[in-house]
Amino acid sequence: MKKAICEVCGHKNFDLIWFDKIRCSSKKFTKNKKKILKCKKCNLVFLSKKNRVLEDSSIARNIYNKNNSMKEFIKFHKSREIKKLDFLYDYIEPKNKKFLESNCGTGIILSKIKKKSKSTTGVDSMHYKEFLNSMGHTHYNNLDYPIKNKLTYDYIFSLSELEHKFNPKNFLKDIQKILDKKGKLFIRVPNFNNIYMSLLGNNFLKYDFRTSHNFYFSKENLDILFKKTNFNIEKIFGFHEYDFNHLLEYLKTQKRVYGDYRMVFSKKDSNKVIKNIEANLISTSLIYILSKK
Ligand SMILES: [Zn+2]
Repeated sequence: MKKAICEVCGHKNFDLIWFDKIRCSSKKFTKNKKKILKCKKCNLVFLSKKNRVLEDSSIARNIYNKNNSMKEFIKFHKSREIKKLDFLYDYIEPKNKKFLESNCGTGIILSKIKKKSKSTTGVDSMHYKEFLNSMGHTHYNNLDYPIKNKLTYDYIFSLSELEHKFNPKNFLKDIQKILDKKGKLFIRVPNFNNIYMSLLGNNFLKYDFRTSHNFYFSKENLDILFKKTNFNIEKIFGFHEYDFNHLLEYLKTQKRVYGDYRMVFSKKDSNKVIKNIEANLISTSLIYILSKK
C-alpha cells in the first residue's frame, strides 16, 4: 500500500475501504479477497491491483455479458446507448462534422448519427472491425493511427471506458491529440457517490465492485483529472440509468435486482424523482462535456 500513488492527485495515503470478494462476471464473485483503496485527498477509489487485460473490451464483454457477439452487444446496449445519445443531442451539431467513438462496440451511436455527419469512426478491438466496416464506419483498434496521422475529430464520445482504463490520464492525453481545437469530448463515467451507495452502503458495493473496473470516480476527482489533462469542463450532467422503482426494490431486498421489480411509483412519478437525482449529481453516472483549453 505504501508504494501506490493516487493516479489523479498524486497523494500517497489511502484508506482500505474493501477487502473481500468482488464481482468477476455478471453474477459470479472472485475466489480471493481483493483490496480496494480510497485516496485520502481526492477520494478516488481504485483496485489495489489494477487489471490490464480487461481493457480489451471484447474480452471484458465476453466475461460480463452473455458473450461478445454482435447480436448480444446490440441486445445489451441498444436502449442504453440510444438513451445516452438522446440526452446529448441538444449539444451536437452533426452536419459536416467528424465523429469518433472510443470503445464503441458495434457502433450503435455511430450508426444513428452517420447519415447527418461527415464521417464516423469507431475505436474498439479487432473483433468489431468487420461489423463496423459493414455499417460504413472507419475502424481503428486503438488511437495510434489517428494520432500518428494527426487526424482530428469534432466530436469524440467515450461513454463506457474511463473506469476500465489502466492509465486514464494517458488515455485523456491521447484524446487531446485527436480532438479538434473547437471539438467536444463527451465522457460518461460511473459515479461512485450515487444514491444507491448512499442508501445501501456495503450491500451496494458488494455487487458494484468488479474486476473490470480499475477506478471508481466521483465529481471531486474527475474535476481534478480533467483539469490536469488540459480540458475545460463545459457541462456536467447527472445521468441515472434506472427507474426509481429499481432502487426501491433494492432497498427492500438489500440485494442487487436482476430482472423484474415492483412498480410502486408510476413512470411519471419515477421520472420526477430521477430528474432531481440527476440535478443533484447523485445519479449512477456523470456525463461531462469537455473542450480543449
Ligand atoms: Zn487522490
